[in-house]
Amino acid sequence: MSKTRLSKSTFIRGLQCEKSLYFYKHHYKLKDPIPSSLQVVFDQGTNIGLLAQELFPNGVDASPENHFKMVESVKETLDFISQGQTIIYEATFLYNDVLAALDILVKDDDGWKAYEVKSSTKISDTYVKDAAIQYYTITNSGIDLKDISIVHINNQYVKNGEIDINELFTIESVLDQVLEFLPKIPNEVIRLKNIIESPEIPQVDIGPHCSDPYDCDFKGTCWKHIPEYSVFDISRLNKDKKFDLYNQGVITFDDINLGQTNLNPNQLLQVQSEINGTSHIDIDEIRNFTNGLNYPLFFLDFETFGPAVPIYDGSRPYQQLVFQYSLHIQETSTSEIQHREYLAEPTEDPRIGFVEQLIQDCGSSGDILVYNIGFERGKLNDLIDVFPQYSNELCGIINRLKDLMIPFQQKWYYTPEMRGSYSIKCVLPALVPELSYNDLDIKEGGTASNTFLSMVNETFEGDVQKTRRQLIEYCELDTYAMVKILDVLKEV
Ligand code: SF4
Repeated sequence: MSKTRLSKSTFIRGLQCEKSLYFYKHHYKLKDPIPSSLQVVFDQGTNIGLLAQELFPNGVDASPENHFKMVESVKETLDFISQGQTIIYEATFLYNDVLAALDILVKDDDGWKAYEVKSSTKISDTYVKDAAIQYYTITNSGIDLKDISIVHINNQYVKNGEIDINELFTIESVLDQVLEFLPKIPNEVIRLKNIIESPEIPQVDIGPHCSDPYDCDFKGTCWKHIPEYSVFDISRLNKDKKFDLYNQGVITFDDINLGQTNLNPNQLLQVQSEINGTSHIDIDEIRNFTNGLNYPLFFLDFETFGPAVPIYDGSRPYQQLVFQYSLHIQETSTSEIQHREYLAEPTEDPRIGFVEQLIQDCGSSGDILVYNIGFERGKLNDLIDVFPQYSNELCGIINRLKDLMIPFQQKWYYTPEMRGSYSIKCVLPALVPELSYNDLDIKEGGTASNTFLSMVNETFEGDVQKTRRQLIEYCELDTYAMVKILDVLKEV
């Protein structure tokens, strides 16, 4: 395959950054490894692509055997068309050394129509450009396309019985936007091919484009000169302002001229605390918070997963569904801590067992501490919608929730080790350094969620019992961390 050949994805890559395209073509080995969380996203995308084919059933498939045999798919697609086939999956076209595979090509009474499937819930500018390069190759290959549409997930769809694919997917024509972008394509194709042929790496510095529209997979190379903790980690400072500082040569906290930099009070606290190595502790506020807690105290944390295609009745695409909780209970300020947990079986709807055990474990009095109240409250309200028969008990739990994140979010307690963040993953090592997520096999919620999803989808490979124990250990640490964090606040 010639190096200058562009595909849909290298075309989009080149629009994002010339250097990224050049690296991809000439220095592929520099590419960052694919995070395992992304692999789950890819797998979901593949499944959705196959499901969307059912919108246009009984088509013929021009998929290549592998990525290197795309040109054979071009021939196969043309053969299918000349044989009079009217529904072709993975229809592939090559024009001007631009190769584009389309998810579904259909011929109806009006003529040919193109459908590109996306697992997202809305259309982005990038999807329009992506459709435009397809339109360019298809129409220039002699197909008179009457329309081109994006097929995406309808996140308002609520499953009730069998999946209704006509409700699950929304088909939206992007022909007008495609025709608007189309005149730019020939010049963009020439520009990108020139970049590939250039003997030199394009001189592109890091910038907002490194994560827009996609997180670039050459950051490991281009961002090497940025230290692990830098101005890019200033909390809630917008991306453009971070790059303004960078472009003025300000990279580390020591480089910041506080007199000239417009930072809000929390950002100033973060920067000054880092430069001077100082902590900020507002004893009165913390005392009010801890004195306001009512025993027995419960420390609660939920884990959720969000399948793209809803699995259980009453759920929507990507809706975050509870499958696990950990609960530590302390009857009085001096009593021993008890622990309860729930982890659903992947073969059943995880929510009903979760609700019933949670109601039992939470009793009827005492504050329930969570970390980031909006999350747990939101999930409990979702459960009330699906199981209204438990609404009294679940409302009772909601009314007892209190947020342990507040003292850190409000910066009543801040140390340089928190690095501007009030997430429990940053607060815990700052307050209780002897407790660490690093010792666990599952270290964060995303992995827990993907692991459970793969068990539900039966794509999980590994020791199920061992991994279930790891899920329990992870969730348990979340609430044990809260117990320990509260101990530190009480000592204050
Ligand atoms: S990291 Fe940024 S500058 Fe480097 S190739 Fe990617 S987008 Fe371009």
